[in-house]
Amino acid sequence: MAEQQKENYQEELEKQIFDLKQLLEISKSLNSTLDYHILIDSILYTIMGQMKVLKAALYAKKGIDSTCFSLHRNYKGFELVQGLDYSLPEDIPAIKLFSKDYHCYTLQEVKNILGNYGGLDVLVTLNPSLLVPLKTKGVINGLIILGDQILGTEFTAYEKEYIINIATLAAIAINNAFLFEMTTTDMMTKLRLKHYFYTVLMEKMEQSVLNNQPLCVIMTDIDNFKHFNDTYGHNCGDLVLKEVAQIIQQLIRPTDIAARYGGEEFCIMLPNTTPKQAKLIAERIRSKVESTVTEYENFKLSVTISLGVACYDQNLDISAKYLIDRADKALYRSKQEGKNRVSVWE
Ligand code: GH3
Ligand code: MG
Ligand code: MG
Repeated sequence: MAEQQKENYQEELEKQIFDLKQLLEISKSLNSTLDYHILIDSILYTIMGQMKVLKAALYAKKGIDSTCFSLHRNYKGFELVQGLDYSLPEDIPAIKLFSKDYHCYTLQEVKNILGNYGGLDVLVTLNPSLLVPLKTKGVINGLIILGDQILGTEFTAYEKEYIINIATLAAIAINNAFLFEMTTTDMMTKLRLKHYFYTVLMEKMEQSVLNNQPLCVIMTDIDNFKHFNDTYGHNCGDLVLKEVAQIIQQLIRPTDIAARYGGEEFCIMLPNTTPKQAKLIAERIRSKVESTVTEYENFKLSVTISLGVACYDQNLDISAKYLIDRADKALYRSKQEGKNRVSVWE
């Protein structure tokens, strides 16, 4: 009997060592990226693997000024009802409850404690088996919801404790990625800032040589914007600026990056894109901006933009600045030749 006990004890210790090693690996993996979307995927897949569930989703704030948690679009397995608002305001009683300790809860437990779902009613249709709050420095910065375990069993106390450990690591990683995104994003247009653009462009230039793939940059500048501001006011100018930024963001691929380069100048990097394709994209953006009408007070307003395209050439561009300068020169030609047009550097 004593021998059996010893064996059980040893098995238990071995499992704990294995789990701790896993935690170390998870920590390394979650800290290896600041890319928000990659991170969320990584967290969800880790948790699904460790907890043996087929469904997992993560709630996080969309921006620094968000007052609610939104369900991240990388959710796995859950079937969402189209048109239903799944967001959770930050001030609901359930979130307050979560901020008090480091626990995971079932929906039923929340109901038992609060007398109702505490603002989590929308989760009822998803039938989650467990809610795992994400918390850094005592503040909830997200929530993971899990589906049933594959084997149909209940989570053990050990598993719940383990998942809280993972959640603590995930919360720190999310906080870092969130801060990184905030500090590299222009708050007004929600596009990236210039220094971020430069840093990533340098990386993409290297990759472009390694993978032998073309890489293009588009520079844009709003036409006669000073006059526009003088005529309709700076606030109206800001509104239009935001709209142009939105159009650019909508017309590029997720792998492209758009940045606010200066006041009313934007730049876009297009990996794996030929000059011909980049010109087409630039033309699409130009045309959409031209046809977009902004209503401001009693005015119906529109602006035009000029664009310049350059393709990375390792013989010409010894740094990102050279490539951007060539796109800028092409943009200058568009201005010279009458504005509201696209030019390609030749
Ligand atoms: P061009 O067609 O040659 O580009 O003429 P332009 O008047 O647009 O000239 P330029 O690009 O040099 O002008 C920049 C103007 O953009 C100056 C400023 O009034 C306006 N601007 C820059 N940043 C902002 C901003 O954040 N908000 C607003 N409303 N206007 C801005
Ligand atoms: Mg300008
Ligand atoms: Mg301008």
